[in-house]
Amino acid sequence: MKFGFIGLGLIGGSIALTIRQKMPDSKIVAYNRSAAPLEQALENGTIDHGTHSIDESFAGCDFIFLCAPVNTNISFLPELKKYLTDHTILTDVGSVKGIIHDAVERAVPFAHFIGGHPMAGSEKSGFANSSDHLIENAYYILTPSNAATEADIEKYTALVRDLGAIPLRISPADHDLITAAVSHVPHLIAYSLVQLIKETDTPEQYMKLIAAGGFKDITRIASSDPTMWEQICLENAENIRYVLSEYTMRLSDMGEMVENAEGQKLNKLFGDIKNYRDSIQDGVKGSIGKVYDLHCDLIDETGAIATIATILSTKGISIKNIGIIHNRTYEQGALRIEFYDNDSRQHASDTLIKHGYTIYQN
Ligand code: NAD
Repeated sequence: MKFGFIGLGLIGGSIALTIRQKMPDSKIVAYNRSAAPLEQALENGTIDHGTHSIDESFAGCDFIFLCAPVNTNISFLPELKKYLTDHTILTDVGSVKGIIHDAVERAVPFAHFIGGHPMAGSEKSGFANSSDHLIENAYYILTPSNAATEADIEKYTALVRDLGAIPLRISPADHDLITAAVSHVPHLIAYSLVQLIKETDTPEQYMKLIAAGGFKDITRIASSDPTMWEQICLENAENIRYVLSEYTMRLSDMGEMVENAEGQKLNKLFGDIKNYRDSIQDGVKGSIGKVYDLHCDLIDETGAIATIATILSTKGISIKNIGIIHNRTYEQGALRIEFYDNDSRQHASDTLIKHGYTIYQN
């Protein structure tokens, strides 16, 4: 099969890498504004051909993936028109779907367009951060247009499965409401929590100091690319406004219960929410990149961290991040170790338990 990529950054690069890994004989061509990703991708064999303009290289593609920012993808549609045939499935990976469906309908209504959104990502961007397992075990939303045939949808669904992701077919409107709730508004909340401590900190900046543990974890997504999130806010404004108003209503209800010292009411509410939260399926990647970490009791002696790092490295387990955390759950302090994937975390956990360490995993 022949695949075309417009934009070879984190998501485009990760899909291209996965195709190369799972379907080594396929032909992959890519266009990117900057040269570096194309050079890297040619060098490591991800793509067969890189181009600095949308040209003949895109003729005869089975799939063309639009993987630049959504507005940029839209601006390419007129140039792509002559390379779109009944044989080509046009798709994108954008985080908002309504706007691209409208644009395709205006610019290339005949295109066999199926919107796509792999629900996997990272706060990092660029081809250099792409990986051949980013979309593995992640939901991959498909939003078919009216011009897409059932055969097109089956072909794309089979591709998503072959790449190790989980296809999920929904309408563009439902997609934009759902992602506003599970991804877009949570990003706004993370940004606003960080803003809160930045603007209300003590003169000694104690809030910033103590934020090193759990606070940093829950606001990790506030390190996401500001330009991408500016665009998402503008492109999905109506849904974000609606979800945000539902959210602030609940937050203000909780504030009132605190003000009125309604302990029992708060307790019942937190209990219900906890039960619901605990029932959310684990093991599948969601819209917000997953962290594979564990906590390990730290014995307070010289070289304790080095010993753990050595044990893991002798087993060939790579550590993504490591740091000491101090909070009430771990009175003597614990080590938080982050890994690149779930298998590495499990392997590390088994290994450390064998060496007598106590492991805590969420
Ligand atoms: P990225 O910045 O890593 O990649 C974008 C790529 O597009 C870069 O290689 C950039 O050079 C290229 N590009 C930008 N403008 C261009 C232009 N005018 N001409 C040619 N190339 C151009 O971004 P990303 O995270 O891969 O995001 C790409 C798309 O994926 C966005 O539409 C985003 O909504 C969507 N998405 C992102 C995530 C995430 O977590 N990052 C998750 C799912 C979907």
